[in-house]
Amino acid sequence: MSKKDDCIFCKIANHEIESDYLYEDDLVCAFRDLNPQAPVHVLVVPKDHYDNIVDDVPGEVLAAMTHAVSEVARICGIKDSGFRVIANTGAAAGQTVMHLHMHVLGGSTLSEGLIPNA
Ligand code: 5GP
Ligand code: ZN
Repeated sequence: MSKKDDCIFCKIANHEIESDYLYEDDLVCAFRDLNPQAPVHVLVVPKDHYDNIVDDVPGEVLAAMTHAVSEVARICGIKDSGFRVIANTGAAAGQTVMHLHMHVLGGSTLSEGLIPNA
């Protein structure tokens, strides 16, 4: 397992710092965003460190993230009402935490304005 010492999401994903978890398995976990931009705003992150979605992420990790998104949507009751999945990639695109994560946003009518850090 590869971790980065100074990475906040490595610490949260591996329970060195606790958070508000909704889902977890061997490869990924999901927890509520500290600064929610919608009624449901959850982050899905791998337990291993990847800088972003194009950092040679193994297929099984991407599959686990997709499964976690589905579980989060089911748990939060937004699977049928519609939700948005976003992976800001690179500082120029608004990525502020350089550990791969997917935002799951829902629970209200989503508009362009609900893109995190846009
Ligand atoms: P980005 O801008 O990189 O796409 O998204 C990073 C997200 O992580 C932001 O929405 C921010 O609110 C959230 N975040 C940053 N630090 C923490 C933290 O320590 N705990 C939690 N739960 N969320 C965090
Ligand atoms: Zn990390």
